[in-house]
Amino acid sequence: MAGRKQPQTTAAATGAITAAQPQVAGGDANDIARMVEDLDAMLSRLRLGAIRDQLDGLLEEAAQRNWNLREALAWLCAAEVASKEQRRLAMAMTIAHFPCVRTLEGFEFEAQPSIDPSKIRDLATCRWVANGDNVVLLGPPGVGKTHLEVALGREAVTRGYSVQFTTAMELLGSLVKGQQQGTLEVRLAQYAKPRLLIIDELGYLPLEPEAGHLFFQLISRRYEQGSVLISSNRPVEEWDEVFGDQVVAAAILDRLLHHSHVVTIRGDSYRLREKRRSGLFRPQAGGSSSAEH
Ligand code: ADP
Ligand code: MG
Repeated sequence: MAGRKQPQTTAAATGAITAAQPQVAGGDANDIARMVEDLDAMLSRLRLGAIRDQLDGLLEEAAQRNWNLREALAWLCAAEVASKEQRRLAMAMTIAHFPCVRTLEGFEFEAQPSIDPSKIRDLATCRWVANGDNVVLLGPPGVGKTHLEVALGREAVTRGYSVQFTTAMELLGSLVKGQQQGTLEVRLAQYAKPRLLIIDELGYLPLEPEAGHLFFQLISRRYEQGSVLISSNRPVEEWDEVFGDQVVAAAILDRLLHHSHVVTIRGDSYRLREKRRSGLFRPQAGGSSSAEH
């Protein structure tokens, strides 16, 4: 039809991105020299800090191995990816607030025969975190509950899940404060956020009267959304005493145990075992395990 515009097919019209090439008029040696001069700045602008910082070493190694340009580029990219992953992990570990560094490799299963190693190795795959299941670790002081919590938490961080470690006292202290100051909602949302919330040491110290209700609110909020890994020195039958309310304790356990793995650890404190071995601790000589609490 006369006057009707023909569809434009140029890259500019279709919005397609054309290959942008740097200006090297006739391959002028000055142009490329200038680009080399700008290399650090360009790498910084592209946020390729690992390539920038290790460039000489990386290029030297690539030359020594006689790699072609594509191979060398892949080598540089791999160094950048590894560095970014390392930084992501370090950042996520910091955010998780683990109280110490403990790993599954550092856990002596022979020292705690009541634990089934294959069960822990299965938990280390973090399938339970992917499914939003919970883990309850029960046992007396010193048997490795915190060790396993940190180790499993680190496995979850390594697999890319957001993790937060806290103690029951810290968590409930924060929620009680939130209730008093009118910031409960914010605090509940904060604790509901991480994919895995680790709550250490439930039952060691007496809780405030309203703690049970607050804990119930948190567990309800996380129910079937995100995982909880919780440890306690008290068997679940005693949690009504822990929370000071039978009904609330039953409601908490109902949700917590619905999709859960319970690991009950029996046996001696690892700490006292170490001390006994080194001869520092002799129970018959007036020593008391109360030091454990
Ligand atoms: P709990 O939290 O049950 O009181 P911890 O996890 O704090 O016990 O363990 C006390 C100390 O003993 C920690 O330093 C921990 O790393 C160590 N520990 C406990 N059990 C083991 C184990 N089976 N293998 C290696 N270290 C252990
Ligand atoms: Mg502990």
